Amino acid sequence: MKKNAKIIIVGAGPIGCYTAQLLKHAGYNPLLLEEHAQVGRPVSCAGIVGKGLFEELRLPLSRRSIQNTINGARVSYNGAAFDLHRQTVAYIVDRALFDQELSHKLEIEFNTTLQDIHPIREGYFLKTNNGEYFADLVIGADGPNSRVRKALGFNSDMKLYRGYQYRIKMTPERLDAVEVDYVKPFSLFTWLIPEGNGVARVGTICNNPYQELNRFLEKHKLTGEIIEKNAGAIPIGTCELVKGQAMLVGDAACQVKPITSGGIYYGLKAAEMLVDAVRDNNLAQYQTRWSEEFEQEIRICLLLRNILENMGEDVLKKMFEYVRDNSRLIEKIGDFENHSSVIWSLVSNPRTYPTIGALLMGLARNPRFLFRSLFRLPR
Ligand SMILES: Cc1cc2nc3c(=O)[nH]c(=O)nc-3n(C[C@H](O)[C@H](O)[C@H](O)COP(=O)(O)OP(=O)(O)OC[C@H]3O[C@@H](n4cnc5c(N)ncnc54)[C@H](O)[C@@H]3O)c2cc1C
Repeated sequence: MKKNAKIIIVGAGPIGCYTAQLLKHAGYNPLLLEEHAQVGRPVSCAGIVGKGLFEELRLPLSRRSIQNTINGARVSYNGAAFDLHRQTVAYIVDRALFDQELSHKLEIEFNTTLQDIHPIREGYFLKTNNGEYFADLVIGADGPNSRVRKALGFNSDMKLYRGYQYRIKMTPERLDAVEVDYVKPFSLFTWLIPEGNGVARVGTICNNPYQELNRFLEKHKLTGEIIEKNAGAIPIGTCELVKGQAMLVGDAACQVKPITSGGIYYGLKAAEMLVDAVRDNNLAQYQTRWSEEFEQEIRICLLLRNILENMGEDVLKKMFEYVRDNSRLIEKIGDFENHSSVIWSLVSNPRTYPTIGALLMGLARNPRFLFRSLFRLPR
């Protein structure tokens, strides 16, 4: 069986669905291929999104998935801790429902796994377990392990991290704040997120997620019933976005915040740029606009992440204590979606110089790593 579509989107996750909705609004009729039997499941997400997500997008998002409102965080590392407060800084969403709301009235072929894709004279040939497809234009929204990215050879320097999460029956001390316990500031961490309904999400992104999660549960004496387990990969790095008549978006394109690993906001914003480029018949414009808007931010955060991941505990402790001492500044200028503004304010404060000095000393002891870090410097 051979099917033709002008535009095929591989992956009906939130970013693929939002891209499809935008394309429909622009007069196109995209077809989505989704390997699972439904949208939204299995879940692999902590479901925390900045409140701006529901205000800043071109197509208003349904608010039905919002379960809880967050007013701050308790942040800890190695015995030191501080609190951040900001009214309605974020929402906790039911991720399955969030995705399902985005998928209304879309044409989706379920149980259809892309197995291979290659360019043909006018467009692309897609081989799936459910038949063959032809498309003039292909959008890979197929997540961190994107088959489109791999098969079409998009350049990328991404590294995949592992995330693991339990939903546990319990009522946390604070229902309006999340807990973030750093395994390594400011990249690898464990979280406790109140859903607000007698359930908390306890999860981690780190090198040994299963062991780390159990360590966290034991340390905090969390003994409630585990009602769901979620796992997934987080792509951190950068990626080429356009190749011929194919494009990547969302996790497939590594559009993830390097410090917090959140990908929903970046992916949805990128979808808007992608669809503008399709509408303007100028696909290269997608790469240019993405770079103009987000590349600097991502590269600064990647540089910081790369440096901190390679630092010893003594430097990290100093760094964390410095951030703790400046927590009021973070409260004032910190932005849920933009982290480089905080990094710049801290770096431009003379009181940081001893901490930066310690970091540089650590770097100087490792010249190969220093070279790699500088290579990632923002353009
Ligand atoms: C543990 C964990 C916690 C997270 N917490 C947060 C958070 O709190 N906030 C936040 O903003 N982000 C978070 N993220 C990241 C967020 O989940 C992703 O950025 C987001 O899901 C990206 O959406 P997407 O549509 O690009 O990819 P996905 O959600 O991965 O969707 C891709 C879709 O493509 C389908 N697919 C894949 N391969 C194929 C194929 N070959 N053929 C057909 N279909 C295919 C999949 O089934 C899926 O439906 C977290 C991630 C993890 C792992």
